Amino acid sequence: MALIVQKYGGTSVASIERIQAVAQKIKAFKETGDQLVVSVSAMSGETNRMTALAQTIQDTPSLREMDVLLTTGEQVTIALLTMALQQLDCDAISYTGAQVRIMTDSEHGKARIKSIDDYRIRQSLTQGKVVVVAGFQGVDVDGHITTLGRGGSDTTAVALAAALKAYECQIYTDVDGVFTIDPRIEPNARKMNVVSYEEMLEMTSLGSKVLQIRSVEFASKYKVPLRVLSSLIDNPVGTLITNEENIVEQAVISGIAHNKDEAKLSLIGVPDEPGIAFKILSPISTVNIEVDMIVQSVSAREGLTNFAFTVHRNDFKTASKILDRLCQELGAIAVQSDDKVVKVSLVGIGMRSHAGIAAQMFEVLHNESINIQMISTSEIKISVVIDEKYLELAVRSLHAVFELDKE
Ligand code: ASP
Ligand code: MG
Repeated sequence: MALIVQKYGGTSVASIERIQAVAQKIKAFKETGDQLVVSVSAMSGETNRMTALAQTIQDTPSLREMDVLLTTGEQVTIALLTMALQQLDCDAISYTGAQVRIMTDSEHGKARIKSIDDYRIRQSLTQGKVVVVAGFQGVDVDGHITTLGRGGSDTTAVALAAALKAYECQIYTDVDGVFTIDPRIEPNARKMNVVSYEEMLEMTSLGSKVLQIRSVEFASKYKVPLRVLSSLIDNPVGTLITNEENIVEQAVISGIAHNKDEAKLSLIGVPDEPGIAFKILSPISTVNIEVDMIVQSVSAREGLTNFAFTVHRNDFKTASKILDRLCQELGAIAVQSDDKVVKVSLVGIGMRSHAGIAAQMFEVLHNESINIQMISTSEIKISVVIDEKYLELAVRSLHAVFELDKE
């Protein structure tokens, strides 16, 4: 008998029919003898709907009240799913985050889980019940309701699995696993059977939207075997995310990630003197804008430098305004802004032991006449920023040349 934590995302519980189908699956699992803890998201679209409702009253409602509002989405689905299970004669009980003491810090809207008290859950499991826990929510020391950030139900599931030392944490979604590339862009995308935490972390932070990044961090830290699989097909296998070296595929490149949310800003012809990076980036970080890639290069004119960086497209306007002001203050020549760029990344732990992958990547892009605007590398990834109109061409060519469609 194994203890398994399962998480069903918004699309899997999007309607009463789907909730009933999920209940059938859970019941079938339960009948194999496993103990089950199930965490669910709100019905798809609900969190957005409630956010929009709040904004009809206030542009920026208080984060505390937003958490009180948004957590109701998950409270609806835990109750409905539990009813659907009971209707099938499968004994079950629902709990909100606070009820099973998912304790977080007090950062409303992006709280971090600090501890989970597994007492109640274990007690209900011992009574033979399926335990259904609301995802995405917790409570701080003073009893205030908190949420874990968009997509946070993934993190709830992983944290439950860690706290309960579960055999596996299964994340059910609308795709059957993690692919070498987004299958909507490249039909030859191949599903990976196994991938390491490290690679998954890179893929997620580089734009793969399968999992919330914190859930992968959590899984890696507490060594929770994590499986991503489809709730819409029968007998899904999915992708296992683990550290077991002997079973992780030993390919040089595992996958290609892309991120369409990038925007690039450059300050041209800034005086090249100590402190310039600080003077440019500190007003940007003061308004909480995260900077991704940074490039400082020598300008054609002596004593001047060009400074470029990327931000999320949502922050583009604010960042542009700040740069316009800095351009004057620092006596720079011009600001160049471009929100029509994308980031394309190759990811693979095998890169560590293979030189020349970057050169090979650049050659592929050169052969397609795609101009590289920025480059950044780490031990296990190479990212480039290119014009968004070449996104498909770039990722497909890379996928083909690195033969990612082959096992
Ligand atoms: N309902 C929340 C959201 O839409 C949490 C989740 O789905 O994981 O972000
Ligand atoms: Mg999700």
